[in-house]
Amino acid sequence: MTVLRVVLGDQLSLDLSALEDLDPGRDIVLMMEVVEESTYVRHHKQKIVLVLSAMRHFADLLRQRGVTVDYVRLDAPDNTGSFTTEVRRAVRRHRPGRIVVTEASEWRVQAMIEGWASVTGMPVEVRVDHRFLASRARFAVWAQGRRGWRMEHFYREMRREHGLLMQGDQPAGGEWNYDQANRKSLPARVVPPARLRFSPDAVTREVMALVEQRFADHFGALAEFGWPVTRADAVRALDDFITHGLPNFGDYQDAMKIGAPFLFHSLLAPALNLGLLSPREVCQAAEAAWRSGAAPPNAVEGFIRQILGWREYVRGVYWTLMPNYADQNALQATRGLPGFYWTGDTDMRCLQEAVGSTLRYAYAHHIQRLMLTGNFALLAGIAPREIERWYLAVYADAFEWVEMPNTLGMAVFADGGQMASKPYAASGAYINRMSDACSGCRFDVKLKSGPNACPFNYLYWAFLIRQKDRLSGNPRMAMPYRTLAAWPLERQAAILAEADAFLDQLNGEGGGS
Ligand SMILES: Cc1cc2nc3c(=O)[nH]c(=O)nc-3n(C[C@H](O)[C@H](O)[C@H](O)COP(=O)(O)OP(=O)(O)OC[C@H]3O[C@@H](n4cnc5c(N)ncnc54)[C@H](O)[C@@H]3O)c2cc1C
Ligand code: SF4
Repeated sequence: MTVLRVVLGDQLSLDLSALEDLDPGRDIVLMMEVVEESTYVRHHKQKIVLVLSAMRHFADLLRQRGVTVDYVRLDAPDNTGSFTTEVRRAVRRHRPGRIVVTEASEWRVQAMIEGWASVTGMPVEVRVDHRFLASRARFAVWAQGRRGWRMEHFYREMRREHGLLMQGDQPAGGEWNYDQANRKSLPARVVPPARLRFSPDAVTREVMALVEQRFADHFGALAEFGWPVTRADAVRALDDFITHGLPNFGDYQDAMKIGAPFLFHSLLAPALNLGLLSPREVCQAAEAAWRSGAAPPNAVEGFIRQILGWREYVRGVYWTLMPNYADQNALQATRGLPGFYWTGDTDMRCLQEAVGSTLRYAYAHHIQRLMLTGNFALLAGIAPREIERWYLAVYADAFEWVEMPNTLGMAVFADGGQMASKPYAASGAYINRMSDACSGCRFDVKLKSGPNACPFNYLYWAFLIRQKDRLSGNPRMAMPYRTLAAWPLERQAAILAEADAFLDQLNGEGGGS
């Protein structure tokens, strides 16, 4: 009896649970390029190229191993454009006895899978995705009965459970967390390393032409495409990072620099999210670098925390709280997304750089996402759903399960504190401390008001004034609210008026994609 094994675009791992007991002489692997997945948000062109090219390479790898792959290409004349209708067509073609699939990473796709049995009349077996270090069920056990969820508590349990960076029952190196050491700005003498990028091969070039033709009006440019699209290249990217990036990853994790889009970051999220690398092997490679003395503990612990901690934690939050999580708006934010998010056309140099990098590389590093585009959206009161759809559209690594909690929980505090204990709100002083953007900016970071003042300054105080009822009781916000309490009401009203005038003029600029 033929088994139809469905492999989705972010399930490109040979050890995928849906492939575990595959019989190459009998079974068929179904892979589908469907237009719906490229357009439910209008993804960056590089994201579409990345996924389709990696899928085509993975199908070739399976075929080299003797597996029969039924591969539906985007430009196939009879392609119906959605997973469910393509699965139904494949069932008619192959008449399998059952369908096997690994659970989807995104809620939207999982809902489709749950309809396949009735649409096809076939039994559908949905298997757990073992590629994550914490299953959905494991996270649910951790979360159950806890009043406040904090990543740090979950992370320590994961360290123990997976024996990563441990010496017996204690953290290797003596500390669980070296975050305090990881907040340095980048001195001028420190030059970030050149990064290994991958020239598009013939398969990728063919997909690029297809994407330029079919999705010409999508955000972003293809010229700088350099992502690994095979496991072999992803492993080379990992090795390159461990050697050249990891030793300084911790020190400059929060730094920003004009003209240095990658700094010491790993650039591994796209490969991890597609399944070309496993989170376990990436953490183990980092740990090995520490044990051999090639990287210091603050770098290795900081890096492992991002993957074993944050990555697994946000997935747990997503799956535990969806679908209601998507509609959170604890701060009642309603403004539209300013046009510069789509064009980079703004005088604010820090944001110009972050959006510019996003357009060119489908990448901006974490601090640019959190403290520039995210912080601005928070302070400006952008509607959470608008900024959330933007993050989902613009990055090569954007998948809803990881993007949504980061946006709604971390960046704009739309979940009211489920993810973060306080909003990541910051004025220009923070950006000036962590970057070199302000020195060449048309605005003056030292000025608090007036036409030349850095907008982050008055937006920051206007945000605190507006959200006073919701946030002033938060002990972690006590300091700025004490400062604010000393300001006369007229001064507060003037700040609100200045912030509103600035934001109204921005929204008037239009744009959008
Ligand atoms: C508003 C916002 C949206 C984001 N959207 C996404 C997204 O769509 N997809 C995505 O993979 N990450 C997202 N992140 C998390 C993080 O910014 C990216 O994982 C990281 O910038 C990717 O670049 P890198 O591979 O060079 O990461 P590095 O800085 O080198 O970090 C190493 C790895 O740790 C993991 N990681 C780091 N931070 C986080 C985090 N906060 N949550 C989950 N995993 C993390 C990633 O797998 C990353 O590859 C978002 C963060 C914010 C603030
Ligand atoms: S002055 Fe303000 S707007 Fe300009 S780069 Fe600095 S923080 Fe950004």
